[in-house]
This record gives sequence, C-alpha cells and structure tokens, in this order.
Amino acid sequence: MPEQSKYKFTPVLGWSVSRYDIFKRCKRQYYYQYYGKYDRDISQSKINFLKYLTSVPLEIGNVVHDVIAVLLNRLKKTQEQLDVEKFMDFSRRECEKQIEKKKFFETYYRLKEKILITDLYPKVETCLKSFLSSSWKSWVFSEGLKNSDKWIIEPGDFGETRVNGLKAYLKVDFLFPKDSKLVVLDWKTGKKDSDKHENQLVGYVYYAMMKFGFYPHADKVDAYIIYLGEEYDEIKAAINEYDVSRFEDKAMEETEAMYAYCKDVEQNIPLDKTEFKMTDNMNICRFCNYRELCGRD
Ligand code: SF4
Repeated sequence: MPEQSKYKFTPVLGWSVSRYDIFKRCKRQYYYQYYGKYDRDISQSKINFLKYLTSVPLEIGNVVHDVIAVLLNRLKKTQEQLDVEKFMDFSRRECEKQIEKKKFFETYYRLKEKILITDLYPKVETCLKSFLSSSWKSWVFSEGLKNSDKWIIEPGDFGETRVNGLKAYLKVDFLFPKDSKLVVLDWKTGKKDSDKHENQLVGYVYYAMMKFGFYPHADKVDAYIIYLGEEYDEIKAAINEYDVSRFEDKAMEETEAMYAYCKDVEQNIPLDKTEFKMTDNMNICRFCNYRELCGRD
C-alpha cells in the first residue's frame, strides 16, 4: 500500500529538485512534462506516450533502486540469510521484465535497434554488488535491524513535505535511526556530480528533520550519497542551520519562478503553451523525450 500523505491534497504545484531541473532546462519540456493535458494541438495520449519513454541509464537506476527497496522491505519481515545468487537472479529478471514492458527512448528515436539484457544487467549487477559489499549493508543487516520498524524506504507519498509552508517533494531512498541520529542514504548509479548531489543532501536532511520533528537541527541528521557505479564512493556534506536557511530561500525562489508560469497558481493552471519557450540548446534536445514534437528529432 502506498504511504498516505499527512498533508491534505491541493492542486498547487510542489517544488522538487527534478521539477525545477526540467523548468531550468527547457520551458517547453516543462510544459509537456507537467501540463500536457492543457495542450490543444497534440493529443494527450501522444504526450503521455513520450513522457513515459524510459532510457537505458534511467532504467538501470530504476531497477537498482527497486530491488534494493525489495531487499530492505524483505529484511524487515525475515532475517533469513541473504541468498546472493537468488537475489541476482531476481534482479536480472527485473531487467528482462522492464525491457519487455517499457518503451525505450533509444529504440523510439532509432539510436538502437533493440534493447538487450546486456545493455542493462551488467551495470545493475555491478551496482548491486557494490551495495552488497558496502559497510552500510553490513551495518543494516546486523545492528541496524534493531530499529527496522522505524525504517523509511522510498516513501509512497513521494516525500511530500512543506518548506516554509510551500509544498515540496523530497523523496529519500532510505532513512533510518542510528545511535542518537537519523541517517539518510541515497543511491546513485550514474556519474559523480558532487555539486549537484551535495545540494540534494540538504533537501534530504530537511525531509528527515520535518518528518521527525527535529527542525531546524540539521546536526541530528547525517545524509550520504552512495555511488554504486564502477567505483564505489560516498559523499556526506557538512550541513548546519545556515545551509538549511539557504535551502529554504532557494526552494521558495524557485517555486515563485514556477508559479510565474501559472495563470492560476492555486489550481495549478498554466499560461498558454506559447509562453513556454523552446530552448536554443540543441544538446538538451538530443536527450529530450519530446523532441519529435518540436521538430528536433
Ligand atoms: S526538444 Fe528541445 S525544445 Fe523541445 S521540449 Fe525538448 S528540450 Fe525543449
């Protein structure tokens, strides 16, 4: 059962790192991603089809996140010895299932004829093996189990919270108590991007503080980005009340910028599509699901 949000539903838009990333990248992409149903020229089914195209890197990340979540959820119920072979077999089948079920950007835009298991699984396997040999896994499977009833694993409400009263989504991968603190772990399967990811860490600390009533005591939460790719690595940013305050200002500023593209902020109704300009940067278009709609395929 997906976790119910403790906040009453309102249609107003909610800030998130990914939403603002798309807004910054290309306003037209942002329109198709969040306001496709208002488009009068292109059918909603077409926009939705493009919206849900996946890609090889995205799907590697999805499978790794999903199977780690399955593993952690199972661990809450049974502490039977982990059978690595079976776990890997399950992960491989998950890759096959996604290849079968989903439409890929690479095949739709003719960059590849077919998606093969070899496009996904070797990377998934590397990431999962990195996780299984990490010190976090060892701790979680031993001492961490004492408080498994308090674990939060990929919250079903997408990490809905409030930043200075404004709706925001800060979805954590894994949140748990350790000693007298909370710990947030976020898995990454792609390249290391310290600047971007350190900013995300502040958001995770914020979510944890809000969820457990520690606001604004950032020192009560440790957050880590865990890179599971070719070379295992982790980053932990030092975060204090000043970072929290800057995060709030930034999230509010970015929310206001997105509100400016709404004709009705409360109902989250967008301005006319023509106000959402197409980017001039063709490099962004090369990786955009909607490029067919803009004549940039
Ligand atoms: S193809 Fe380019 S201009 Fe069109 S939505 Fe995508 S990024 Fe924007």
